[in-house]
Amino acid sequence: MNPPSLMHLIYTSAAAPGLGDADLEDIVQVSRTNNARRSITGMLLFTKGSFFQVLEGDEGTVQEVFATIVADPRHSHATRIIQEPIAHPDFGDWTMGFSEIAPSELEKIDGLNDFFQQGASLTALQPGRAKKLLSAFVEGRWRARLEGVAK
Ligand code: FAD
Repeated sequence: MNPPSLMHLIYTSAAAPGLGDADLEDIVQVSRTNNARRSITGMLLFTKGSFFQVLEGDEGTVQEVFATIVADPRHSHATRIIQEPIAHPDFGDWTMGFSEIAPSELEKIDGLNDFFQQGASLTALQPGRAKKLLSAFVEGRWRARLEGVAK
């Protein structure tokens, strides 16, 4: 049997109107439990009513989880931005690192200052800027903003 192929899938989506803190906690808690079982890692950002999520793991499993997520009525307009093979997971120690981040903080991320200062939302991210956002959370001070439990 071939070894599982590792990939990451990055998407953005718009939160359903009225989504509150309790819903967010529920999403993060269920994600961590399910992802640990399926050896999926990654991170989830929430700001100004939109989500940015990185899912890493075996290709087939990531696609399955993404299909479940897309069907979830707690958000809409899920748009896959990046899907590609990776050599190593960037968030191998997080079942789902989570950060709720203020728009004013996004403006401080190197390379994305202008984009977010113009009031753009996560859902307007194209692959190039999505990679910059990913890099900020893979390394340096932004990584420390992710909260979560170790795998
Ligand atoms: P349950 O949690 O018991 O849910 C059963 C069904 O009810 C599901 O179809 C679910 O979509 C729906 N549901 C649950 N609560 C509500 C609610 N309050 N309002 C409306 N419908 C509801 N799951 C993962 O496994 N991994 C992830 O990384 C992940 N990331 C997510 C990111 C976002 C932005 C969102 C919105 C959801 C995410 N989820 C994730 C949750 C996923 O969509 C499913 O809800 C979950 O995987 C189903 O878990 P479960 O089988 O234990 O069922």
